[in-house]
Amino acid sequence: MSSSGREIIVIGGGLAGLTCALMLQKGGQKIQLIEASERIGGRVKTDQIDGFLLDRGFQVFQSSYPTAAKWLDLKSLNLRAFRNGCLLRKDDSFKVVADPWRNPLDSLRSIFAPTGKLSDFSKVARFRQRVRSEKDPYVLLESPQTTAIERLHQCGFSTEIIEDFFKPFYSGVFLEKELTTSSRMLDFTFSMFSRGEATLPADGMEAIPRQLAKQLHPGTIRTQTTVSEIRDGLVKLDDGRSLSCAAIVVATEMPAAARLLQADSSYTYRSTRCVYFDAGNAPVESPSIVLNCDMNSIVNSLCCPSRVQPSYAPENRTLVSVTSIGPLDRSPHDHVEAVRDELREWFGSDVDRWRPLSTYNIPYSLPDQSVANMEQIVKTPRVTDTIYRCGDYCDTRSIDGAIRSGERAAAAVLADLKSASS
Ligand SMILES: Cc1cc2nc3c(=O)[nH]c(=O)nc-3n(C[C@H](O)[C@H](O)[C@H](O)COP(=O)(O)OP(=O)(O)OC[C@H]3O[C@@H](n4cnc5c(N)ncnc54)[C@H](O)[C@@H]3O)c2cc1C
Repeated sequence: MSSSGREIIVIGGGLAGLTCALMLQKGGQKIQLIEASERIGGRVKTDQIDGFLLDRGFQVFQSSYPTAAKWLDLKSLNLRAFRNGCLLRKDDSFKVVADPWRNPLDSLRSIFAPTGKLSDFSKVARFRQRVRSEKDPYVLLESPQTTAIERLHQCGFSTEIIEDFFKPFYSGVFLEKELTTSSRMLDFTFSMFSRGEATLPADGMEAIPRQLAKQLHPGTIRTQTTVSEIRDGLVKLDDGRSLSCAAIVVATEMPAAARLLQADSSYTYRSTRCVYFDAGNAPVESPSIVLNCDMNSIVNSLCCPSRVQPSYAPENRTLVSVTSIGPLDRSPHDHVEAVRDELREWFGSDVDRWRPLSTYNIPYSLPDQSVANMEQIVKTPRVTDTIYRCGDYCDTRSIDGAIRSGERAAAAVLADLKSASS
């Protein structure tokens, strides 16, 4: 492949596409990044409504993400962290779990006091030691895998800690309640939680892709432009125009990639819903995530992002974010009322004064991370001599995984250009 001054086209302005474009630009290439929607960011976007910052679906940036740290100026994101640990909602009361990733002993004592399962304390400590023993956490993705739930049983954890902590916590991370996700993702995310903190940027999660986009030369990004078809050296747009190019990187989410690459289109994914409320008083004072131990409830977790980042709400107001897992099976209005009914049991009639700000229904939130799908992670970005791919489905299904896959695709393009010119 030779670029001979022609552009490389990156399709998709999520974190994978932006990182890939940036690395290609740093490698001296001319880039065009084509994004279908109104702005870059992909699944990491933040809307501003009535002075509140609403991330499109509750998500957090792990301060320990190793690849993101290479591409982002974390300092200027002004990250602020949730309190390590969480609150558990069980049997009509709340229990504090101090910090199971760094202080398993204190933390688990706090959950199970006064009975205390001493054996669980040492097992969490051992689990933590194992996932932290590798300097590079991505090595954990090479380990033999089973389901996350099976791995927890293999580690010998008690039913109590699995039901009361691991299930509610990891169902919110994996966006599925049975924990059939690969044990590799359990290891990787446990390692991330134990090495760093769950944070929010001051300007909302979208500040992350915006920081990458700002480094691209002016005119590189073309939004509101959808690619309908690709061939070696040719990109067709849905308005009928065609663009010729030296190489193409498909950096879309998996379903769109399957269409463009005419690849196997059988894929499964995880869905989520997030309701935001404007509340006068914070229902929980601490900057913690509240997990619901009742897996049959509509509410999986709740938090007040503005207790973590005050910029998420106007002065004297509190932003409440409520996450549910699975596809939306009722209208947004009915969903809000069902959420309110459950939360009235938690916080009393204050909940009736909360004003709904927005409900996000995100059918395609994460690609399926089950054992079979993690086995087939698309590690090689080359599809043909001039077509490449990246995206979170090619790596860990995460912000860091998307960035890492973009880096890998750009490295492959640059290597091929170099070998063609030598
Ligand atoms: C609700 C939710 C919660 C999450 N929580 C976390 C979390 O806490 N921590 C974490 O690390 N990760 C989390 N994630 C996952 C993380 O956001 C994603 O893994 C990551 O953003 C994926 O980036 P990407 O670039 O691979 O894909 P995307 O962000 O999906 O980007 C793909 C882009 O391609 C564009 N596109 C598609 N088709 C075309 C076309 N034909 N032509 C042009 N453009 C096209 C799309 O518009 C989109 O902008 C969460 C995701 C969601 C939705």
